[in-house]
Amino acid sequence: MDTGALDVVVPILYIIAFALFIYGLMGLTGPKTAVRGNKIAAVGMLIAVVATLLRVQHNWILIVIGLVVGAALGVPSARQVKMTAMPQMVALFNGVGGGAVALIAWSEFRTSGGFLDTATYVVVASLFAAIVGSVSFWGSLIAFGKLQEILPGRPMGLGRAQQAVNALLLLAAVACAVVAGSGGASQLWIILVLLLAAALGVMVVLPIGGADMPVVISLLNALTGLSAAAAGLALDNTAMIVAGMIVGASGSILTNQMAVAMNRTIPAIVAGGFGGTGVAASDDGVERTVRSTSASDAAIQMAYASQVIVVPGYGMAVAQAQHAVKDMAKLLEAKGVEVKYAIHPVAGRMPGHMNVLLAEADVAYDALKEMDEINDEFARTDVTLVIGANDVTNPAARNDPSSPIHGMPILNVDESRNVIVLKRSMNSGFAGIDNPLFYAERTSMLFGDAKQSVMEVTEELKSL
Ligand code: NDP
Repeated sequence: MDTGALDVVVPILYIIAFALFIYGLMGLTGPKTAVRGNKIAAVGMLIAVVATLLRVQHNWILIVIGLVVGAALGVPSARQVKMTAMPQMVALFNGVGGGAVALIAWSEFRTSGGFLDTATYVVVASLFAAIVGSVSFWGSLIAFGKLQEILPGRPMGLGRAQQAVNALLLLAAVACAVVAGSGGASQLWIILVLLLAAALGVMVVLPIGGADMPVVISLLNALTGLSAAAAGLALDNTAMIVAGMIVGASGSILTNQMAVAMNRTIPAIVAGGFGGTGVAASDDGVERTVRSTSASDAAIQMAYASQVIVVPGYGMAVAQAQHAVKDMAKLLEAKGVEVKYAIHPVAGRMPGHMNVLLAEADVAYDALKEMDEINDEFARTDVTLVIGANDVTNPAARNDPSSPIHGMPILNVDESRNVIVLKRSMNSGFAGIDNPLFYAERTSMLFGDAKQSVMEVTEELKSL
């Protein structure tokens, strides 16, 4: 195709691609349309890639090698990833995007001989992309390491000196960028920019605890989007600008929504220090009694209830108990019990985690009730069955001003007439804190793997 024809065809293809991105994104607003939305956006991305490649004059072999290596690494890992490992997968994929943007900025520096005769806006956009892309890549790698338990999940930092060190790293990276952008033709400057931003990315994420990590991943995602948009500006590539801004805007909105659901501010999250190892329950020396129950008692309690509310949490995802839960609910419904599901906005490890799992098990969508919709119902509910949820049910968030999660909106499970909690031990959840609900008079614990316990309850229900 000659250049004149390309000047017409490529923008048209880009416009089609953007329309598909936006249409696909609309599909992601509900579980029923999410898969289709994802596919539509993927087709949009394919069109954008093809349109961009139409303009490529050389280096075809390198591009093909890149595509093959990327697909060979990306496709199997995306197919095999477990639902519970999705946040770290997102961190890794997002980080790679940031890394690519940082490398594009470096390559721009090299091909223009240190930004010689380059328009100022291109220089500024390239250096912004270098800093933000590198922060995002290295920060995402640390986030991945923490969630994958390659690195300890607890906050690791320099204490009070942390903020000063981070500010110095940022200042130094910007100073080197100014030198690189104002005629410092030596590659040393751009390499220093990338290295200082890398150190900043590591230093910002290391002090953040595991519980805040999904929010950080979403924030880094937004940053990658912004850096990609800046690189698009530098390369004069509309597709990168639009896709980058969509990622930047949606990542920022998601980050904000998650922070609100946890009643935390984004600056407080980035300042770090919250969240622990997620294993040890607090040991304050106070003796408390825990009542444990059996599958048969739990089955009897539920079979004679008029309403049961199921509260799923991260443990249901770990145990992959969603299908067993659906089977149990069917039996209860056959006995005339009304079953509802209470969905906390940050139950599990990513937004919409519980909705996705329950949709996979074909639970009717209108049985899923959001927190605000169901919170008043607990007080008149006979049995609330908590399946591997912990922090999202912790009444300390409401009652104990000294609790690290004080102010986080929770499901009012403790108001229920009876509570049965399915988990394996007295270990804490992701925030690493004890849960007074487990010691409450109306609560009984059914210890064991959630799937196993639900299946045992179902067997008991069959014999009633
Ligand atoms: P939690 O992490 O608080 O608790 C999960 C519980 O599941 C644990 O206490 C664990 O106890 C239990 N569990 C684990 N495996 C199993 C199993 N196989 N069978 C039975 N139980 C099991 O989860 P929640 O969903 O209540 O809360 C989510 C947490 O994640 C909150 O702190 C939230 O702020 C945080 N978070 C969530 C985000 C999101 O977008 N969803 C984003 C950011 C943070 P035991 O080991 O004893 O079995």
